Amino acid sequence: MHELGHSAGLPHCGDTRCVMHFSNSLADTDAKDSDLCAACRSRLGA
Ligand SMILES: [Zn+2]
Ligand SMILES: [Zn+2]
Repeated sequence: MHELGHSAGLPHCGDTRCVMHFSNSLADTDAKDSDLCAACRSRLGA
């Protein structure tokens, strides 16, 4: 999902809940859901 976001032109996101957030730790990866935050959705124009 994260790579799909990049393919769609999205940058990394500061929202830790967002799938486009860049996570350094496995715990961080587990915590995030597989969804875009409102800001990223609006960047996509969807
Ligand atoms: Zn990335
Ligand atoms: Zn986001």
